[in-house]
Amino acid sequence: CYNLLTNLMSPHEKLAELKDRLEAKIRLMQDVAHELKNPLSVIHGYASYLSKENVPPAEIKKALRAILANAERVTAMVGQLQDAVRLESTGFAVETRVVDGSALLQEAVESAELEARRRGVGLHWRSTVGDSLLVVADSKRVMQILANLIGNALKFTPNGGTINVDAQRDGDSVRFAVIDTGPGISAADLPHLFDRFYQAQDNTQKSAGLGLGLAICKGLVEAHGGRIWVSSLPGMGCAFNFTLPAASALTPAAVRDTI
Ligand code: ADP
Repeated sequence: CYNLLTNLMSPHEKLAELKDRLEAKIRLMQDVAHELKNPLSVIHGYASYLSKENVPPAEIKKALRAILANAERVTAMVGQLQDAVRLESTGFAVETRVVDGSALLQEAVESAELEARRRGVGLHWRSTVGDSLLVVADSKRVMQILANLIGNALKFTPNGGTINVDAQRDGDSVRFAVIDTGPGISAADLPHLFDRFYQAQDNTQKSAGLGLGLAICKGLVEAHGGRIWVSSLPGMGCAFNFTLPAASALTPAAVRDTI
């Protein structure tokens, strides 16, 4: 489709298009360098402090904690960049099995509980009792999607706010939702939110990040045959939803094949 479009362009339009793409790449490299530089300089600063003699034991612990947290940030960013390259080139390969969507939800919420407490945000989860929430999915990748959506909700929801996470059966799918009481997203930003490297323009608190998390979530959900969307009103928080195929939508023989 892209080739078809460029064939219809005049030489002048092609040149302008190439210039735009080059500028976007340069901006991207600047952003990546900037985002990596911050945690790396913290690591460098604390490591050189630790290399001095007679550092008090309490300070050693503090420095090591900062080094660890910032090394984790760098590792997460490099992982996101690798996923973005995968998304662009081959797409995601998911290894699906029949898994319990409710258990995945619970595990994702439990992993975020400490951070929610630290931020003074209420984090609650619920899955419809009695409904079959078995999904055909790659559990590692579903955890990655949930961690990303819950992580964003935590990043934007102020102290005293609430995040509700739930899963329920919806026809042939199971629908997962992460709903927060943060600042929400403007109507102008909504259509672009799942684009690669997009960050909302009117963030009151500018977030650290590469604008890749939601694009990766979309790629992962679609690799499962699901759908992801967001609804939000500025000032009223937002609701991120995604679907995964329900296992009971498969024939018993197909379910046996996935186990
Ligand atoms: P990043 O890692 O930079 O946050 P994402 O792709 O995860 O990138 O998110 C893209 C943008 O979407 C964010 O920069 C933020 O502006 C907006 N966003 C995502 N989740 C939320 C949320 N729960 N509340 C408000 N804005 C959000």
